[in-house]
Amino acid sequence: MVTRSVAFVGRLRRASLTDSRSILLAMLVSLLLIGAGRHGEVFEVSDRVIFAGVIVLLSVPVVRRLRAGEFRRLAWGLLLVAEGLTATAGLLFGSLPRGVNPFAPPTANLEFAVMISVCGVAFVLALAYSSLSTLTLSLKIDAVAGGLALSAALSWLYLNRVLGQVSEVFTRLNHREHWVIGMALVAIIVIAATATTMVDVTRDHVVPYVGGAALVISVGMVLAQRDAVHDTAHWGVLIDLSWIAAYALGGWAASIDVDRPTTRNVSHESVSSYVQARKIAAFGLLAMIVTSLAALFRDPPVVGGLALAAILVLLVRLLMSLRIERVQSDAFKALAETDALTGLANRRALARAEDDGAADGTSGVGGVILVDLDNFKEVNDSLGHRAGDLVLVQLAHRLRGGVDTPGVLARLGGDEFAMYLPHASREELTVVAHRIEGLVREPTEVDGLSLQLSASVGVAVRVVDGESQDELIRKADIAMYRAKGDRSGVRHYDFEHDRSDPSRLVLFGRVSQAVRDQSIGVHLQPVVHVGTSSIVGCEALARWSPEGYGPIPPDRFVPMIELQGLMVPFTEHVLRRSIDQVQSLGDAHGLHRLSVNVSERDFVNGDFPQLLHRVLGESGFPPTRLTIEITESILANDNEKVGRGIESLRRSGVRISVDDFGTGFSALSKLVDFSVDELKIDKAFTRRLLTNDKALAVVKAAIELGRAMSLDVVAEGVETAEIYDALANLNVDLIQGYHIARPMPIEECRGFLASYGGNRLPPG
Ligand code: C2E
Ligand code: CA
Ligand code: CA
Repeated sequence: MVTRSVAFVGRLRRASLTDSRSILLAMLVSLLLIGAGRHGEVFEVSDRVIFAGVIVLLSVPVVRRLRAGEFRRLAWGLLLVAEGLTATAGLLFGSLPRGVNPFAPPTANLEFAVMISVCGVAFVLALAYSSLSTLTLSLKIDAVAGGLALSAALSWLYLNRVLGQVSEVFTRLNHREHWVIGMALVAIIVIAATATTMVDVTRDHVVPYVGGAALVISVGMVLAQRDAVHDTAHWGVLIDLSWIAAYALGGWAASIDVDRPTTRNVSHESVSSYVQARKIAAFGLLAMIVTSLAALFRDPPVVGGLALAAILVLLVRLLMSLRIERVQSDAFKALAETDALTGLANRRALARAEDDGAADGTSGVGGVILVDLDNFKEVNDSLGHRAGDLVLVQLAHRLRGGVDTPGVLARLGGDEFAMYLPHASREELTVVAHRIEGLVREPTEVDGLSLQLSASVGVAVRVVDGESQDELIRKADIAMYRAKGDRSGVRHYDFEHDRSDPSRLVLFGRVSQAVRDQSIGVHLQPVVHVGTSSIVGCEALARWSPEGYGPIPPDRFVPMIELQGLMVPFTEHVLRRSIDQVQSLGDAHGLHRLSVNVSERDFVNGDFPQLLHRVLGESGFPPTRLTIEITESILANDNEKVGRGIESLRRSGVRISVDDFGTGFSALSKLVDFSVDELKIDKAFTRRLLTNDKALAVVKAAIELGRAMSLDVVAEGVETAEIYDALANLNVDLIQGYHIARPMPIEECRGFLASYGGNRLPPG
């Protein structure tokens, strides 16, 4: 209600001052006319001039509207003509009784009436057309059907009940006039009714005013008929006023008709289909009632005709909605089976493709190709998720355009794509897999950078008739993981791998169980002090060999533990187990320090410092002998909880080592913020030390930095004597790697330490 009145006031403001003035003035003069009406029943000269003058005043806003713009020029022009004709008629036919019955003889009068009616109807039609042109077809049909149904009801009321005497008018007029008057009335009714139904659909502000005008005129006309029939001028002034009121409403409409009604407001969504459906049902009911009544009362065929027309239009509308519904449900289905980011099929669509393939009885050949991008996390982490998304979209586009073997290409989520080729042969599958791998390698441009991506691709060929797509995906997944493990690009599934490299799903369940029953092992890898050539410590590395599968690398199972929220119990287990082992060696071996790897989750999900203090307290292991390894990327992440945890650890005497140093980019500033004790140069650099100048530069810089900040520098991943010597010459403090020893179980470690005696052992 409030919003409505606000809107109304807004519209009033829009009607310009001149328009409001002319309409107000016209109203004043009309009052005069009412006063004059008391003098006599006949339209006197003065009345005629006043009447014509009022009509001219009322046409001012229409003229102004016509000048203002092109939109609906035809409609407003027609209204102006109607006004001109009305004013002229008012002036000419002075001897008639007040109120000028426009349809009474003489013929000239009748002709004027017909012309005015035609102009009026054409005006409203032009107006309705411009309003309706902003609507969708179905909303247009709704408006027309509603208009017809309401018209049928209204005309039935006019002709039968409300104004019974009108039928008398019809019988007393000659045939031609009967027809004209009936049609004019019905036309006006149709217009008024259609306008009423259009109001909420078009939200065209002009419509209610014009509808109102049509209603007022139709009432005036009926009154005029009554006067004519009874040869009285009973309703005289009211009839004059009905014309004036109608034109005043028209003028008002013209003055607020500044812009085109916005299509945006009238879009399909704005009129909820539920509301529309209810309206259609109501119109249909109304039309049916009127049809029955018309038949019952033997009304002029026009009433029943209108009602029948409404029913017909509604039937058409019903058929249309059925079609629209089908189209929409198809569209929804397509949406539900599309990956929103790339527009490729999604997992659901891929699964459906199998049903389709199985249905045509061609299973037995075909297979699945699974594609997983390498290091995609790095793209997201370094360039942001938006860039990551752009990369995925580009790749999707490239894959779709680059593979023409029939099949379904889908994005399964993240950086994982799959292609299901229900009819391809083993050879075709191989070709497509390599093609995909090659397509991913093509340079990808994002934010002005050129990225060189790669993918690991797994292929599973259907070997058994009726092998399900799920099974194929599982196998392709295993193959893909093997490809990832040895960076071989494309790998085919083979049965042997299945046992040693089970799918992630199986591993997921098993690894959580292993954490719970503490069956994950810990190996120790010695660290050598270069200056004294003696073993000074070791790093604890988790080991897991689920029964029947062989060893699974920690790079694979640690993320699974992390994902299942089991990081804290896992780290506690490694911590306790490794402290136990180191303590069991005794002091004689000189294995002084123990390094344990810790993840960000340890700090975020739990209170790691507190856990550590508890474990150290219980075991009696001195904090100064323990080193906690935190990757450079954790440091770079700038997590407040991690920062506070590290500070707290250091205060208690625990050493902090920055692991994988050189790979985490922006963490240098963190070295200033946090005081750490050790830098551990990533094996990616040490391994290429002798062959790659840039790797050498990074190693040199790290050593330099460590020196300057008084940190110990460890080089890990040292596999050969040459690299060992090179690092020794560069003044690295500590060295760890296969060249000294592999990570090993405690018994082996004991033997190793006993026999080491300061000499480097050959790799074993
Ligand atoms: P990391 O902390 O960088 O551990 C060093 C990795 O390098 C170990 O791999 C080790 O076996 C390997 N390595 C040692 N010397 C050489 C060498 O000379 N050449 C080569 N090529 N590699 C060498 P591993 O045991 O497979 O562990 C991989 C990663 O898994 C570790 O990298 C660490 O990030 C994670 N990890 C292992 N155990 C744990 C653990 O108990 N807790 C946590 N949070 N992470 C762990
Ligand atoms: Ca480490
Ligand atoms: Ca490392």
